[in-house]
Amino acid sequence: MKKFELMVLPYAEEALEPVISRETIAFHHGKHLAGYVNNLNGLLEGSPLAGLSLEEMVCKATGGILNNAGQILNHEMYFGQFRGESMESTQKERGLDARKAAGDSKSAPCGRLAEAIVRDFGAFEVFKKEFEKAGATLFGSGWVWLSAEKDGKLVITQEANASNPIQKGLRPLLTFDVWEHAYYLDYQNRRAAHLSALWQIVDWKVIEKRYKE
Ligand code: MN
Repeated sequence: MKKFELMVLPYAEEALEPVISRETIAFHHGKHLAGYVNNLNGLLEGSPLAGLSLEEMVCKATGGILNNAGQILNHEMYFGQFRGESMESTQKERGLDARKAAGDSKSAPCGRLAEAIVRDFGAFEVFKKEFEKAGATLFGSGWVWLSAEKDGKLVITQEANASNPIQKGLRPLLTFDVWEHAYYLDYQNRRAAHLSALWQIVDWKVIEKRYKE
């Protein structure tokens, strides 16, 4: 049976500082996500669901397979949507300056996605506030998502635990993880502060690509 493997991060563990610390990434990717991968591989031994894609499992499985496959799918989209700084500019002060200097081509959406955000939310700033609010008010553990309906209309949803918008027939584009393991080392109980800081590291080129696919 082919085993699922832990995704390789597209940046160094410290590359998202100061928004997300190296320590948080080390635990979140190296312990939590790795744990979901190991759990799923164990659960799939001898299961008729072995061989399905993560997306298929999330839509068809129940119990532990659903939860672990969902968490892997969610985290692969989450870790894959951030832009890290290069290894030599990892000092905390330089981090933000370097992002600013890199220009805004990645720090805000453009093209069709930008137009759809304005059409469906009124303005980019309004969308960001609504997204942060949905994340801050999600009760318990889960994920806040921006997704597209079949006709391209954008929607924000709150998904509990390991759920993913594909279970509702939506195309997921952007997600913030509001499980406490995503922010507690850096922000403790200040979930809203964590969410508002995440905009600094979203790579909108990735989100635009997901919207086009
Ligand atoms: Mn997580």
